[in-house]
Amino acid sequence: MERWVEETLHDGFCVRLKVDKVLFDSQTDHQQLIIFDNEDFGRVMMLDGVVQVSTRDEFVYHEMMAHVPLFAHGKAKKVLVVGGGDGGVLREVLRHPQVKSATLCEIDRSVIDLCRAHFPEISQGAYDDKRTRVVIADGTKFVGETKDRFDAILVDSTDPIGPGAVLFTKEFYATCRRALKPGGVLVTQNGLPFLQGPELKESVGYFHALFKDAYAYMATTPSYFGDAMAYGWASDDKKLRRHSCKKLAKRHEKAGAFPTRYWNPEVQVAAFALPNYVRNLVEA
Ligand code: SAM
Repeated sequence: MERWVEETLHDGFCVRLKVDKVLFDSQTDHQQLIIFDNEDFGRVMMLDGVVQVSTRDEFVYHEMMAHVPLFAHGKAKKVLVVGGGDGGVLREVLRHPQVKSATLCEIDRSVIDLCRAHFPEISQGAYDDKRTRVVIADGTKFVGETKDRFDAILVDSTDPIGPGAVLFTKEFYATCRRALKPGGVLVTQNGLPFLQGPELKESVGYFHALFKDAYAYMATTPSYFGDAMAYGWASDDKKLRRHSCKKLAKRHEKAGAFPTRYWNPEVQVAAFALPNYVRNLVEA
């Protein structure tokens, strides 16, 4: 008997994925977690009925969440990833040789353990890198209490449902602002503007109140069904998101010109060129 799973993020439409093999399907301490194989997207993890990662297209999302802020910043040494338990963003952050420490604060240890077991090709040893520090905690608690200061905070969270909801609040973003070093940058997973426009508008509205520069950039990860995804962007220096291809290429060169499957300097520059319907959501 064929089995299909439905994505339940949106009220008015849903996508379903055929399940070729289930590797895990249960409730963790925080959310419903299923890992299964699918003939089109490879191995897939869903949390509370929403696709989080698939082996076929994770490179898009993880490269764009890590390399855009780190090449924009240029000399980030201390990076914090909030969420990101699959280890993909962490993997990409650690490809930057100037990064001396990468802290990952994940609320659900089961996500890390199960992704290490079933998606080793995503974290690729990132959790064993001597620069990695894993904290199992709610991101709002960790960021609110940490004495550490970071050059970049990357919020690789679920959507604003379940445990992820608190990571879309002004209070949380204010603690991120406090935990950033001068010149630091905050990037957030901020959904699909076509379907989740109000969430993006709200997050970037908070960024405008807390930072000198607030914007977004976009990239399309096919398994985030319905639109290109927006990454919320906040810093105190508008120049960070306006570097030329030439400058970004030089920084990539200096970082060892590591190979990428999605990110390149031109893609970074183009990612900030927003369609008007998204620009209207993020401009003050
Ligand atoms: N790339 C995915 C996306 O765009 O939706 C996100 C992937 S990652 C698996 C999301 C992670 O955020 C999950 O592992 C989840 O446990 C974690 N998370 C959710 N709420 C959290 C919170 N309050 N503090 C820390 N981690 C949280």
